Amino acid sequence: IDKIKVGIIGYGNLGKGAVEGIKATEDMELVGVFSRRDPKNLVVEDESIKKFHVDEAKDFVGKIDVMLLCGGSATDLPEQTPEFARLFNTVDSYDTHAKIPEFYQAANEAAKASEHIAIISVGWDPGLFSINRVIGEAILSKSETYTFWGKGLSQGHSDAVRRVNGVKDGVQYTIPSDEAIEKVRSGSNPELSTSDKHNRVCYIVPEDSADKNKIENEIKTMPNYFVDYNTEVHFITEEELKRDHSKAPHGGFVITGGETGENNKQIYEFSLNLDSNPEFTSSVMVAYARAAYRLNKEGQSGAKTLFDIAPSYISPKTNEELRRDYL
Ligand code: NDP
Repeated sequence: IDKIKVGIIGYGNLGKGAVEGIKATEDMELVGVFSRRDPKNLVVEDESIKKFHVDEAKDFVGKIDVMLLCGGSATDLPEQTPEFARLFNTVDSYDTHAKIPEFYQAANEAAKASEHIAIISVGWDPGLFSINRVIGEAILSKSETYTFWGKGLSQGHSDAVRRVNGVKDGVQYTIPSDEAIEKVRSGSNPELSTSDKHNRVCYIVPEDSADKNKIENEIKTMPNYFVDYNTEVHFITEEELKRDHSKAPHGGFVITGGETGENNKQIYEFSLNLDSNPEFTSSVMVAYARAAYRLNKEGQSGAKTLFDIAPSYISPKTNEELRRDYL
C-alpha cells in the first residue's frame, strides 16, 4: 500500500522529534525537511534525510500529502500556517492559547480556499489536555476542572535564575504541589491559584566565590517569577547539571472533580509524564497527520482542532481492528 508522504517545515526541537516520530510508523514516509536556513548548513542526525530550503516547498505540491509545521508559536506559525495551508494539508502545534480563535480563522480561510485540511494546536497542551477538559466537563455537569503542569523545565524561569549575580548556570523546574493535587483528588473542589498549585525547584551552579545565601534569597524574592511560589534552591556542580538536567521533561495533570446523584463524588483524571516534551508533542502531530490525510481524502476541508477529530482517524489500525482490540 502507498505510504502517506510527509514533509517537515522548521527544523528545531519539534522538527527533530517529528523525524523520529515518522520513522516509528509503518504507514508514513518522510519526503524531506524544509528550513529557512541554508540547507547545506543544516546538521541532520541521519544523512539520508533530504534537506530543502523552505522556498522550495511549493515545488512539492502533489508530492507531499501532509506538512508538519514545526515552527515557533510566537512569530513563525501565525505566518506559516496560512501560507502552507494554501498548498498542503497541515498539522501545527500553535500554543498561544489566548490567540487561538484568530489563528483558527486565518487557517480556516486558507485551507477552505485551497480545499485542504489544517489541523491546528496539536500536542498536549493545547492538545490531549484540551480534549480531556472537554470530556470531563461534558460528562460531569456539576464540576470543576484543574490543570497542573510539570514536572517541567521552564525556559523563562531558567533564564531568570541564570541572570542572578553569582550564578554560573542553572535550571528551573515547575512541579505540581502534592498538597494541592491531593485536595483536588479528594473531590473537595478547592479554590486554588496558580501559585497554590505549583512549586518551583531550582538547581544552581554557583560561581566559585559566590555567596550562596545571597543567591538563594535573591531567587526566592524575585518578583513575578518566584516570590508568590514555594521555591526550593539546590546548589550543584557543573558536572551534575550536565549529567542530570539536560533533558526537556514535562507533563502534568488534568483533573475534573464532579458529582452525580445524591453526593456521589466522581473524579476524572488524565496525566502525562514526559522525558522529552518535544518528542512527545511531535509524536502527537505525526498521529494527527493521518487524520489530516484521511479527512482530506474524504473531501473535507478547512481548519480543524482535536475536538473535531474522532480517535479512529489517528490510529494506523482499521475500524474493524479497533473494535476488536480496544472496545
Ligand atoms: P525551536 O525554537 O526549537 O524551533 C522553532 C524554529 O526555530 C524551527 O522551526 C527552526 O526554523 C528555527 N530554529 C531552530 N533551531 C534553530 C537554530 N539553531 N538556529 C536558527 N533557527 C533555529 O522550538 P520547538 O521546536 O521547541 O517548539 C516549537 C513550538 O512548539 C513552540 O513555539 C511551542 O509553541 C510549540 N509547542 C507546543 C506544545 C503543545 O503541547 N501544543 C508543546 C511543546 C511545544 P527553521 O528551520 O526554518 O530555521
